[in-house]
Amino acid sequence: MVTRPFNFNPGPSTLPLVALERAQKELLDFEGSGMSILEHSHRGKQYEKVHDQAIALIAELLAVPATHQILFMQGGASAQFGLVPMNLRTDSHAGDYVITDTWGQKAYKEAKTVGKPQVAWDQNKDGVWTRVPKQAELKLSPDAPYLHYTTNNTIMGTQCFDVPNAGSVPVIADMSSDIMWRPTDVSKFGMIYAGAQKNMGPSGITVVIIRKDLIEKGRTDLPSIFRYAEIAKNNSLQNTITTFSVYLVRNVLEWVKEQGGLPEMERRNTKKAALLYGAIDGSNGFYTCPAETASRSVMNVVYRLPSEELDGKFVAEANKAGLLGLKGHRQVGGIRASIYNAMSLEGVEKLIEFMTKFQKSS
Ligand code: PMP
Repeated sequence: MVTRPFNFNPGPSTLPLVALERAQKELLDFEGSGMSILEHSHRGKQYEKVHDQAIALIAELLAVPATHQILFMQGGASAQFGLVPMNLRTDSHAGDYVITDTWGQKAYKEAKTVGKPQVAWDQNKDGVWTRVPKQAELKLSPDAPYLHYTTNNTIMGTQCFDVPNAGSVPVIADMSSDIMWRPTDVSKFGMIYAGAQKNMGPSGITVVIIRKDLIEKGRTDLPSIFRYAEIAKNNSLQNTITTFSVYLVRNVLEWVKEQGGLPEMERRNTKKAALLYGAIDGSNGFYTCPAETASRSVMNVVYRLPSEELDGKFVAEANKAGLLGLKGHRQVGGIRASIYNAMSLEGVEKLIEFMTKFQKSS
């Protein structure tokens, strides 16, 4: 049995041990077939069952309504930055963009390469955002084909807890770093997309949940492999899918379900974040968060020490103590503890213990 460190990486990130152990157990002989799931055809019955199970688990956990379809795509969330406007823009408008982090900014920049997006809100000051906007601050255009925003800002450590109201304009959310952190009313969204590598599994697969009328309305002036309509028609099997990534998503989501589903994830995540922010706020200013309190993320806790030198020392000593992946993104520096669904309460408690000791010895 290997000793697992506590892995606070932002993605790929820690996975539930049982999901990995199941993969290990099944790797050489998938369900008595004598072959690995890695060797099965993406069109064979063994893989098909896994594919359908993964989709059914997403549908069940998020209570996806019949108005929406679940797709698996490749190219990461970054590919969706381009595919959303490629499929859904009009000739005069490529969406309103709420920019709350580098990722939302990238999405906006990609939309600009194919059409004419507009900025609905952007607090950017020298590459730093410290909060998310209030509804009243959004500059919305009534003729926008969609409103795009990022639910959780992985780099800045902020999170939007309310879905923006854009009237009849469909809301599209990049949920890469907080999908399934709690129950979500999917009916409020025209489309949701998320790379799997934080809360759902390994890298290599992106989950798209899209309203069927938007699929039908999608543009046709782009190659078929990039069209939502084509992928939907083929149940995401229009070409060779990353079968092993989907297989692992299936394993991870079964774990989520067994643990009690998204209400239980919310209970755990809220507790972990409250403990960690509590330790930061109780440190007499030794640890501080750049994010405004009301916008603090439950998934990526970003904070810093009194100097860059201490930040570096903290990360180095934490590594030695088996607490990995805590270095903040180069854009904000400091520390980032990514505490996704699979990070245990024990991991967060160990981190807090380490923080207290480190402060005392500094
Ligand atoms: N959006 C968000 C919110 C992210 O955190 C990331 C990756 N960290 C991306 C998009 C880009 O994802 P990918 O690497 O899957 O393209």
